[in-house]
Order: sequence, then structure tokens, then C-alpha cells
Amino acid sequence: MRETGIVDAIRRRVSKGTRSALVVQGMGDDCAVLRPRAREDLVFTTDFVIEGRHFELATHSAQDIGHKALARSLSDLAAMGGEPVFCLVSLALPTTLAARWVKAFYDALLSLAARFQISLAGGDLASFEKVVVDVMCCGRVPRGKALLRSSAKAGDDVFVTGELGGSAHGFSVRRGAAWRRHLRPEPRLAAGTALRKLGATSCIDLSDGLSLDLARLCRESKAGAKLDGALPLARGASVEEALHGGEDYELLFTARPWAKIPKRIGRLPVTRIGTMVQAKAGQVWFGGRLLRPGGFDHFA
Ligand SMILES: [Mg+2]
Repeated sequence: MRETGIVDAIRRRVSKGTRSALVVQGMGDDCAVLRPRAREDLVFTTDFVIEGRHFELATHSAQDIGHKALARSLSDLAAMGGEPVFCLVSLALPTTLAARWVKAFYDALLSLAARFQISLAGGDLASFEKVVVDVMCCGRVPRGKALLRSSAKAGDDVFVTGELGGSAHGFSVRRGAAWRRHLRPEPRLAAGTALRKLGATSCIDLSDGLSLDLARLCRESKAGAKLDGALPLARGASVEEALHGGEDYELLFTARPWAKIPKRIGRLPVTRIGTMVQAKAGQVWFGGRLLRPGGFDHFA
């Protein structure tokens, strides 16, 4: 397996894929060249997926890892109400992994990229003793319209898309639909765009668990939240898994009480689960008790 050979193979496949009109130079030069439109803001995010931390080679296929690496970053774009433009993918891997592994990794990544019309505009490749992936995604929003974590107000309703706890449940049972859901999360890009247009006041994606991500949104908005509605549980998931299990990649958002938030966006259910309240920044109540954030904190 030679680096030039791998890069050429990726490039051949990328040239057949999606190419955003904003990317005037994609793979093949020292930098990608982006020509942004007037009256738009660009949003950027970068996410690690690391062997031994986010996945194990024994349980996750190359396709699972390629999918997840891009899905995590796309989910961040969704949380900002962004539309995907381009991504950069850096991959380090042991030389013992065959060219077949690399092909399968890019197969899954590029198939997700095609589905959400994001172009792979470059990246880096290195050999290392573990698999480490870093995906940078760029998206666009109309100027000043990015959905932020910091703009929720006391009195706003709190909502989530989809169902909660499915990924954590899948991780514990390692089979069936919940496990597949854990392996192949679905970024909620259409919902993110719809929420921006519906006038949601703030948004965050649920990567580390409802209790932790809601506390983060509350902290940024200098408010608290009371969870008073029933949580939409994924099949088989417990309330604990819904509260503290990570990697659901659903959207948690707020809206003024009079905003017309539909029960579904496309086929994705939307559920009201609580209210923003005046409180010490970051405090969250559930069932009348102060909730300790129990989600996934890398440095806890
Ligand atoms: Mg996020």
C-alpha cells in the first residue's frame, strides 16, 4: 500500500462524486480553494474519531468508522442549521491494515458524503499504531442566521428530534436495530435547516448525552432548564440511557412558546420535553430534582 496509490484512488472516486459550486479547487493541490457567496456565513467544525476511545477495530468495520467519522461532523453542521459545503479528512492508520480497509473506509464516508452533498476537498494520510480520524466540515447559512447554543431565553420550550437512548442501548446489547443505530448514526441536516427557518432560538446536537448537552446549552444561554415532558425513548432504551447515554446525534433545540413547531419534520418526530427557566447557568431539573450531568465527558 503506497500513499500516492491510495490518494490517487480516493481522488478518482471523489471526482465522480459531489462537488460543491463553492469549491473552486478540490483535492490535488496544497490547499482546497473555496469561494464563499455574499450574504452567507460559513460554519466550521472538526471531530476526532479515535481507536480505543470512540471505537474498537474488533467490533467496528472500516465502513462503520468511515460513516461515523463524517456523521459526527455533519451532525455539528445540522446543529447550526447549516447546509454542507465541503470536508477535509485526515486519516492515520497502522500499515498492517490492508488497502481493502482503506477502500472500505472511504466507500462508506463517500457514500454518506454523496447523500448529503458534501464534497471531500482534501485531507492527510499518515501511518500510526492506531486508527485516528479527524474530519473537518464546512457548511453555510444565510448571514447572521446560524443556530447558536447561547440564544435560548427563559420561557422557551425545549424540544428534541427523534428518540433518545437508542445508541447507548445498542452499545450495551450489541445487536439488532439499536446496535446498527449506534454504528451508523444519521445526521439531522434537514431538521437543522428546517429549525433555522422555523425560528428556533437555540440548538445543539446530542453527542455526549441529553443531561450534559442540555447543561452546555443552558450554560451558554446563561439559564437553566426543567425537563417536564416524557422523554421519547428509543425501543428498549431506559430513561437513564435517554438522559445520559451519548451518541444519539439528535437535535436538542428551543423555541419561543408561540412558535409553530410541527410534530414531525419529514418523518422525524419532534417532542417537547421541557422549558427554559431563570436559574444558575447550566442547571437542569428532571422530575423535580436537580440533574447531575452524567453524559460523556472526555476529561472527567
Ligand atoms: Mg456538537
